[in-house]
Amino acid sequence: MYELYAIRYAHRDASVRGEHFYGHDPCAEAPYPIDYYVWAAVSPAHVVLVDAGFTAETAERRGNRHYLRSPVDTLAALGVDAARVGHLVLTHLHYDHTGHVRDFPAATIVLQRSELAFWTGPHAHRGAHPHLASPDDLSYLVRENFTGRVTQPDGDRELVPGISVHHVGGHTPGLQVVRVRTAAGDAVVASDASHFYENIEGDRPYGIVNHLPAMYDAFDRINTLAGSPELIVAGHDPLVLDRYPAVPGLEGYAVRIA
Ligand SMILES: [Zn+2]
Repeated sequence: MYELYAIRYAHRDASVRGEHFYGHDPCAEAPYPIDYYVWAAVSPAHVVLVDAGFTAETAERRGNRHYLRSPVDTLAALGVDAARVGHLVLTHLHYDHTGHVRDFPAATIVLQRSELAFWTGPHAHRGAHPHLASPDDLSYLVRENFTGRVTQPDGDRELVPGISVHHVGGHTPGLQVVRVRTAAGDAVVASDASHFYENIEGDRPYGIVNHLPAMYDAFDRINTLAGSPELIVAGHDPLVLDRYPAVPGLEGYAVRIA
């Protein structure tokens, strides 16, 4: 059994619905703020961190993003030293999920084979992809891959007892979600397979699409993997702070999912 936390490290108020939903949206200009999270699954024997956020420097450079605090510091406030993180799962390689990988030098990095292949392959420079990724972060991952620290499942894999990754794709080629056994049942960290609850609950895919049928299939897969709908954790939704209780003393920074 694991305790599962969402750690909120940044937010962006100046975004609108039209940025976030695939296809025509009748309220495209309506404000639709976004939060940025990493997630930690903690037991006496294991700590698995899901995603690595972006850094304060990246927030400054990209603008329009309010950086609250390094997720590494909030993790420490939860009583978890970075050195205890045994696995760092990267759900995918967009810039807002790769920024703090260097802060976990002891962790095994877990990303899908098809995700690393895409971002080191012939299409990475096309369209908006250079903007969506951090070449510096990716260079670090490529270097670490030569040390054997980067493990690359091709599909589903159990990392430690009670925690598994599941390839879904859709938003990026190798997007994976993470299932965590908790006292309340199996929780699923959806990450960008459902940025907002409205994506999965309203069957409305997000606006950044690699493969639309896979996005719909991801919704179905997440619903199958989760013990109950309440244990599905959206990747970027401010509602996460409303749906789960704040960790005392860390209001606005961390909630306990289960
Ligand atoms: Zn993404």
